[in-house]
This record gives sequence, C-alpha cells and structure tokens, in this order.
Amino acid sequence: MNQHCGAAAVQPHCNRGETAVKGGPVPYAIRCGDVMPGCAAEFHADEESDLLDHIVRHAAEAHADVELTPAIRSAVQEAIRTVG
Ligand SMILES: [Zn+2]
Repeated sequence: MNQHCGAAAVQPHCNRGETAVKGGPVPYAIRCGDVMPGCAAEFHADEESDLLDHIVRHAAEAHADVELTPAIRSAVQEAIRTVG
C-alpha cells in the first residue's frame, strides 16, 4: 500500500476548512490522470513550482516506470490548471 498518492491525494485531508480560511483556494491544480491515464491522483499547491515538485515526487513513487522526458514534463505543465 505504498500508493498513498493515489487514493489519498483525492481525499481532502483538510476537510476542517482550515486551509480554505487561511490560504484561500490554492491556485494551482493538476490531475495526474491528464498525463498518466488511469491515475486518480490530484495535487494542489500555492506555487507552480510546488505543484511540479509534488507531481515529480508522485511520479517517482507511483509511476517509477515512466521516464520524465522533456515531453512528459511539458505535458505536465500543460495539464496544470490555475484556479481562479
Ligand atoms: Zn499518478
């Protein structure tokens, strides 16, 4: 069960509302499934660089067989959504 990034990431661990009150809505989000079809992991961050950090770490754990080629990286960057 080392796939904590899969199911756990889509569960709001912070459902007490603290994050929303403190930091407001996080502006950057990415669905791993947009880049790696079939993956349910989702990440949110305040900074684009944090988000990339999350996804790179997740990819290393959950998609160790996928090489992070420049093409994959640019696909990742295109998959990043900014939330108003
Ligand atoms: Zn994934």
